[in-house]
Amino acid sequence: MNDVREDFLSGQTPNTPSASAAQELQDTLLPASAPHPALMRRLQEYLLEPGAPNVRLHPKWLANNLNVDERELLGALAYGVRDGLVEMHWEVYCPMCGGGSGDIGSLRHARGSIECVGCQASFDLHLDRDVRVTFSASERLRRERGDEEVPLTADGDAELATRGLDLLLVPAFWELFSGEAPAADESLRIGRVAILFTDLRGSTAIYAERGDPRAYRLVRDHFAILADAIERNNGALVKTIGDAVMATFASGGDAVCAAFESQAELCARAADMGGELVLKAGVHAGACLAVKLNDRLDFFGGAVNTAARVQGLSRGNDVVVTNEVIADIEAKQNGQERRFQIENSFDAQLRGLSETVRVHRLVAATGSEVARAASIRRSVGSRLLKLIKRM
Ligand SMILES: [Zn+2]
Repeated sequence: MNDVREDFLSGQTPNTPSASAAQELQDTLLPASAPHPALMRRLQEYLLEPGAPNVRLHPKWLANNLNVDERELLGALAYGVRDGLVEMHWEVYCPMCGGGSGDIGSLRHARGSIECVGCQASFDLHLDRDVRVTFSASERLRRERGDEEVPLTADGDAELATRGLDLLLVPAFWELFSGEAPAADESLRIGRVAILFTDLRGSTAIYAERGDPRAYRLVRDHFAILADAIERNNGALVKTIGDAVMATFASGGDAVCAAFESQAELCARAADMGGELVLKAGVHAGACLAVKLNDRLDFFGGAVNTAARVQGLSRGNDVVVTNEVIADIEAKQNGQERRFQIENSFDAQLRGLSETVRVHRLVAATGSEVARAASIRRSVGSRLLKLIKRM
C-alpha cells in the first residue's frame, strides 16, 4: 500500500495488483454520472432543429440556450460524443497573437509544444490557457437535418469559452475518455488546478479489526460518499490509490468543501455504516501536467506531489491547505456563512521539497454542519464504544 503510494508519487505507478484493483473499484463501483435521459433527448432534438447553430457550439452558449446547467450539459455532451450525437473539438488559441491555431480532435493527438500558424511563435500548450472546447453535431445528425451546417458565429470570446481543463473537471469525461490521454512522450501543461488528496486514518487497523470483506465494504461506501461530494462541488475524481482518493477542481474552495462535506457525512453515517471512518484531507493548487500513466489520463508534477504530502499532515476531520488555497477559500466564503476556520498555521518541511511550505489546518467552523455532525458522531461513537465493551 505504501509502496504503491510512493511509486505513485514518483510518477511510476506500477501495474501492481493493488493499483489495478483500485482502478477496477473506481471504474465499476463509483456512482456513474450518466446524464438524465431527458437531457440527452433535449440535446438530440436541438441538434435536429432546422436553422439552429449545430457547428462549433460553445457549451456555455448551448447551456443558456437549452436553459440547463453548464456542467450537466458538459456531462451530456461527453455521452453525446460516445453515442455519436456530437463531435468534440479541442481548439487551440495562440497566447501571443490570440489567433486560432488548429483543432486537436482528441487529447491523443495533442502536442505539448505548438507553433502558431498565424505568428509562428512557439508555445507550450496549456489546457487552461490555450485550449477551448466546442462541439458540433455529428455527421449522422447533420445528414438527418439535410446536410445543414450552421456554425455558431458568436466568436472566440474567451469569456464564453469552456477551457480544455474544464472538461477534465467533469466526471463523465473521466468515465468515458480517461483512455484518451496524450501520447506517452507528450505532456500538456495546466497552469493552475486545485488538487485534493484524501486518505483514511488508521485503515490498516480497520482491515485488521473487521476483516477484509467488511473493511472493503466500508471503504467502498466511503469512496461513494467522496465521489458524491466531489461531484457536488464541481470536481472530478481522478483516481483511487489504495484507500486514498485524488480529485481535481477549478477552485481550492470547492476542493475544501468537498473534503469537509465528506468528513461530515462519514461522521453522520458512522452508526449505519457500522463504524467510524476518519478522513484525512489535503489541498494544494498549482501547475501540473496532463500525461498518460497506465494507459490513462493522469495528472503529474510538483503540485500533485505537494498536495499528496500536505494530506499527510492532516490528522483527520481537518483539511490541511497551502497558501495558494487560502485565497480561493476567501473568494468562495465571501459573504457566505463561514463553514470552516483556520485552527493553526505552520511551516512544514515536506519530503522531496527543499523549501518549507506554509500550511494551514482548517477545521469546521463552530456551529457549521460539519461541526454538528462531528459532535453527533462523538456521542454516537461513545455509545457504540459502550455497546462494544458490553458485548
Ligand atoms: Zn500566434
